[in-house]
Amino acid sequence: YIMEKKACIAMVPSPGLSHLIPLVEFAKELVLQNHNLHVTFLIPTLGSPTPSTKALLNTLPPNMDFTILPQANMPDLPESIETATKMKLIVKNSIPFLHEALKSLTSQTHLIALVFGIFSTDAHYLAKQFNLLSYAFYASGATILSFCLSLPKLDKTTSNEFFSDLIKTVSVPGCVNPFQVKDLPTPVLRERSSETYKSFLDVCQTLSLVDGVIVNTFMDLEPNVIRTLQEKDGPCVYPIGPIIQTKSSREINGSMCMTWLDNQSPNSVLFVSFGSGGTLSHDQLNELAFGLELSGHKFLWVMRAPNKFAGSAYFIGQNVDPLEYLPNGFFDRTKGQGLVVPSWAPQIEVLGHKSIGGFLSHCGWNSTLESVVNGVPMIAWPLFGEQRMNAIILIDELKVAVRPIVDESDIVKREEVANVVKRVMEGEEGLEMRKRMQELSDAAAAALSEHGSSMRALSGLSTEIAKHLSGM
Ligand code: UDP
Repeated sequence: YIMEKKACIAMVPSPGLSHLIPLVEFAKELVLQNHNLHVTFLIPTLGSPTPSTKALLNTLPPNMDFTILPQANMPDLPESIETATKMKLIVKNSIPFLHEALKSLTSQTHLIALVFGIFSTDAHYLAKQFNLLSYAFYASGATILSFCLSLPKLDKTTSNEFFSDLIKTVSVPGCVNPFQVKDLPTPVLRERSSETYKSFLDVCQTLSLVDGVIVNTFMDLEPNVIRTLQEKDGPCVYPIGPIIQTKSSREINGSMCMTWLDNQSPNSVLFVSFGSGGTLSHDQLNELAFGLELSGHKFLWVMRAPNKFAGSAYFIGQNVDPLEYLPNGFFDRTKGQGLVVPSWAPQIEVLGHKSIGGFLSHCGWNSTLESVVNGVPMIAWPLFGEQRMNAIILIDELKVAVRPIVDESDIVKREEVANVVKRVMEGEEGLEMRKRMQELSDAAAAALSEHGSSMRALSGLSTEIAKHLSGM
């Protein structure tokens, strides 16, 4: 008598906490649909996981577990390397460990599918080797996905080293307005012969080979693009969002932030945060500090030490005291006006707090969705990756954000900081944006309700997986 093996799905996140978070939440939803499933996370790493990552992994429910893969062996890389390129390289160099882990999973479980983050697409080839269903989890919007799926064709149409040599705008299938080339994801702005570009193109090419792409978005957020993707030839697209954490880890600066917010009046505080690892230059940091002060509005600022490279704290946290970099006397002058916390805040709880009236954000997709779910209007301050495209969706299509003007030396000056803060926190324009955000927030809740669009997409996916459960 052989005991039947447990049905299992392996999930390989792209490196970095902000990619793990939505994948974990998605796994929870999937397991709710299909109680017989077990999920194992196989986590590629560079160095030991950060405290926030460990905190997240240690709260997985009983039908999920994780294996932290041995540290990827990495060549010496320039500090300027693009975040996406580095992520992909970490995964590529973890493939032998992944192979081992999958071998052991297939011997212990009935392994059905591999779900991988967007920069873990190299895992697709392993999935096929092990005869598994292969799904990409796209932790960003459908608009960027549509751009990515169209990039291989666009690539073939040009022989120039830079796209910008030839064209100024790019049409994305399903979008009414074309995007400026300068606003495309950072890797696409590099020379086409560079590793950065080639690695990004490779991700985009692999995307059209998978059994399905699970996208963290919802119908009412990007209706035209989603419909276009679903009607086109190409991978099956499952818009199952917005999937966000229900609560963040409150271990870091948690009670300090919440107690401070409890003492502020409704909608009066601007939350300022650049994601899990975004950093500003020293000059920019200075201008932001003076600008917040000048605006006269209350602020809660998650601050990091400045760095030349915008994603510098992405894979490994900072171990310096960032507060040392603030202008002289800043604390004294803003006492009562603002709270500055180093490196991390419980963003979900913060955005859900009634005192928050606006969010100055780098427009990472998770932050974007979290702001949408909580109906908080935004100041869009994109830094890297696909954030400029996210910002444009928020500003031009959805009209729920304002974008500060950057001067000729690439800096947002203090007066402009104060100006955008006022636009969001005061007056008619701010009220309109908040109203539209609230409508989106309602639409998000509807998408996730029993017969909502995202739930239907999720149950469609679950049905596909179930077919393989019974060996059909
Ligand atoms: N986050 C947080 N506290 C912080 C900074 C970030 O809880 O101080 C969380 C945030 O809620 C979001 C994620 O980290 O879920 C950041 O993801 P996003 O896609 O916005 O940006 P990225 O980190 O990829 O640049």
